[in-house]
Amino acid sequence: MPIATINPTTGETVEQYEPHDTAEVERRLTQAAAALAMLKHTTFAQRAAWMKAAADVLEGEADKAAAMLTLEMGKTLASARSEVGKCVHSMRFYADNAEKFLAETPVDDPSSIGAVSARMVWQPIGTVLAVMPWNFPLWQVMRFAAPALMAGNTGVLKHASNVPRAALYLDTLFERGGFPVGSFRALLIPSADVENIIKDPRIRAVTLTGSESAGRSVAGTAGQQVKKSVLELGGSDPFIVMPSADLDAASTTAVRARMQNNGQSCVAAKRFIVHMDIYDDFIERFLAQIGKLVVGDPMQESTDVGPLATEGGRRDIAALVDDARDKGAQVLAGGFAPDGPGWYYSPTVLAGLTDDMRIVQEEAFGPVASVYRVADREEAARVANQTSFGLSSAVWSDDEEEQEYFVQELGAGGVFLNGMTVSYPELSFGGVKNSGYGRELSFAGIREFCNLKSVWKA
Ligand code: NAP
Repeated sequence: MPIATINPTTGETVEQYEPHDTAEVERRLTQAAAALAMLKHTTFAQRAAWMKAAADVLEGEADKAAAMLTLEMGKTLASARSEVGKCVHSMRFYADNAEKFLAETPVDDPSSIGAVSARMVWQPIGTVLAVMPWNFPLWQVMRFAAPALMAGNTGVLKHASNVPRAALYLDTLFERGGFPVGSFRALLIPSADVENIIKDPRIRAVTLTGSESAGRSVAGTAGQQVKKSVLELGGSDPFIVMPSADLDAASTTAVRARMQNNGQSCVAAKRFIVHMDIYDDFIERFLAQIGKLVVGDPMQESTDVGPLATEGGRRDIAALVDDARDKGAQVLAGGFAPDGPGWYYSPTVLAGLTDDMRIVQEEAFGPVASVYRVADREEAARVANQTSFGLSSAVWSDDEEEQEYFVQELGAGGVFLNGMTVSYPELSFGGVKNSGYGRELSFAGIREFCNLKSVWKA
């Protein structure tokens, strides 16, 4: 795949980039190693000051950064602004909380283990490679980078090939806040070069957000090298609606949960599992709102759904819908790619799904919702858990006992009750099953790339 900015709204190549050659990659890895040695002698307070200054830089350039995201991958300007705001908030969050999250833990009764004192301390692990996707080009990177740098690690980024401007923006952002040069470096390289970077002795760990196949490959290499990995992979999140739910709120939120980011979010609700008693009412409301969505130029404030980020992404989503339709699914809305320039796909709703259809098991990474009618909560949980994914989930019910049933039963890294899945730095984020392992955000995210060192003193 060329490293290029291609406007998904028109399909035109805006700028193509030469990949970094071996010498440039070496220069950047050397810088990261040198910065690591410098960060070792800094305090949390110093790093927090730099992180806050970098957050101020990003906040001051929010409009420019948002327009860059919209141009490069087609998200609406409103969504791009919100992404930038979330990055700024998270940078400040980790600046304020890193020291608390990495505070040492004394052993209550050291004499019971023959010591005068005993404690556990968190130390940075070293330089971490981040392999990142294009769907939230700043946010996906920031939720790794802000905690990693606050812990005293350095980072190198291999970003998706279709968002080089975002990669280069992040390349200098932390330096502009005051971090030593090399604390965070972008590598413009193809995915085929990732294996060699993981093998480099200066790289101590790798985090990947992306598809299952990329995750298997990267984690395989990391495992061979005995290096830690964190994987944030795909999802096919359920959105369960039970009879006691507020149907107006549930259906309005359902549309946002599916169509956010033009349908390209790992934690977008993808499967809507609705109790039979309210199924018709819910579907009527859901379809009415889907029908009102404005599909068009993401630079226009009035647009709700822009194009898919890549031509291949549109081809994949169209193939999933065609497969379901060919096998007898009902297309309640959309189901086609509109004529004209750009990689648009119309907001689509599918019903009457059967197990032989690919969409029942695979992730629909575009504006396509699947709806299921279920008889009771046991069937709802069974359908929710029937994919190989386990990222997040949403449940709409006003019955507290029923809410708790789903909290216990759903095989996922998160459950959002009477709401939609959203990532916050305050909450942990990550999956189970084929959605990956390890956690980002919260206290858990900053500890993933630290060495927990036991100190025992006689
Ligand atoms: P992708 O094709 O896996 O790409 C993600 C990153 O991995 C890109 O930088 C890509 O580089 C690189 N890559 C691809 N194959 C690789 C390989 N064999 N070895 C090393 N690196 C490799 O995924 P995508 O299509 O960009 O993103 C969509 C996927 O990401 C969806 O499945 C989505 O659910 C998932 N996702 C998960 C989360 C989460 O937090 N769980 C968040 C967002 C997205 P190139 O661009 O150069 O190919």
